[in-house]
Amino acid sequence: MPTFELDEEIQDMQKMLRDFATEMIRPAYREAEHAGETPSELRESIKELSVHLVDMPEEYGGLGKDIRSAVVLEEELSYGDVGITVDVQDTSIGANAILIFGTDEQKTNLLTPILESGDGIAACFSEKGNPVSPEFIETTWREKEGSYKLMGSKTFVVGAGRAKNYLVLAKKDGSNDWQDLRLFLIAADTPGVVVGDRLGTLGLETCAVADVALMGVKVDSSRVLSAESSDAFKSKLGKVLDYARIVTCARMVGVMSATSDYSAKYSTERIAFDLPISQHQSIAFMVSDNATDVDACRWMTWQAAHEYVRGGESTANRALAHVVERAQKVATDSVQILGGHGFIQDHPVEKWMRDLRALSLIPGNDLFPEHG
Ligand SMILES: Cc1cc2nc3c(=O)[nH]c(=O)nc-3n(C[C@H](O)[C@H](O)[C@H](O)COP(=O)(O)OP(=O)(O)OC[C@H]3O[C@@H](n4cnc5c(N)ncnc54)[C@H](O)[C@@H]3O)c2cc1C
Repeated sequence: MPTFELDEEIQDMQKMLRDFATEMIRPAYREAEHAGETPSELRESIKELSVHLVDMPEEYGGLGKDIRSAVVLEEELSYGDVGITVDVQDTSIGANAILIFGTDEQKTNLLTPILESGDGIAACFSEKGNPVSPEFIETTWREKEGSYKLMGSKTFVVGAGRAKNYLVLAKKDGSNDWQDLRLFLIAADTPGVVVGDRLGTLGLETCAVADVALMGVKVDSSRVLSAESSDAFKSKLGKVLDYARIVTCARMVGVMSATSDYSAKYSTERIAFDLPISQHQSIAFMVSDNATDVDACRWMTWQAAHEYVRGGESTANRALAHVVERAQKVATDSVQILGGHGFIQDHPVEKWMRDLRALSLIPGNDLFPEHG
């Protein structure tokens, strides 16, 4: 029986995070955007909330819930500001990859210390000009006496230069077999890891984005994640990406909800032609369509999270396709409701429009477009 009932502990965390997002994160969004980073005190405070631990197993230091709880909390943080959320919530996708691919020993030795410290893991999957598929990947590994050497270059790495770890996807030199793909968990200060200049971006300016080159980086076999067959690797990587897609949906819903609430309130306060603009029908339709889209996108996100846990047919791509599309509509209509005021930085809606556009490009649908 499907249910949208949240357990009491998560309901309490949700309420606490809504207050935190409104009172602590929202007031800091412009400063963070202009500085290009989250203020360090705020970063520490968010880490202390332990949202990154919520869906990690208790035996590795997590809170023992699952992605259904994580999406609720990610939405709340993003309601405050998604640039700050993406910047600070930088362990979850990498930690989930270790959980999916790792042996029991790797989970204990790699995951536990990362969860304890809250150190970030930046995902290094994309390459310039290349789809993420073995025949096109140019980052390669060679093995010699139990250690691996990596050569290549990754791009669009969010958290580059800031995260303490990189999770790098590479193929065996000369092989296009899925089974010869590996994920390497590399400490950021390993010799041969070279972070490029920060890239200018459309939205999400709080996050550092750059290329990461791997110049003969030596990695111990204990930090290499693999699968027993091509099908197993594909299926596990599909699960890692589905997780990322569902979390991205939740973050987008948080921003959609913020912009919908903000423009709805504005429409009751702004007077034009002697009436609050909310009483002009064209504005009223936009306000109510926005609220409807937020609800529908949230429910598709929750359903995708539910299927993820249940192990049923993945609906992550479908949810993301819908959220991405409706998010653009909610963002532009919110700016429209504010009219010329939507264009200036006295209000946050222009920023939310840029952030939603950026988030809508993350998905990585070039990998497994058939999946979902
Ligand atoms: C904000 C942001 C954060 C990111 N973070 C990371 C990160 O941390 N780590 C990382 O590794 N990567 C990251 N990425 C990269 C991201 O995953 C890729 O940009 C994404 O996979 C798309 O790949 P691409 O840019 O090469 O686009 P392309 O694959 O070149 O696509 C270009 C256009 O063609 C369309 N297209 C492509 N293939 C098909 C097809 N088969 N059928 C129809 N249309 C198609 C696409 O939809 C798109 O509109 C990030 C990207 C963004 C925008």
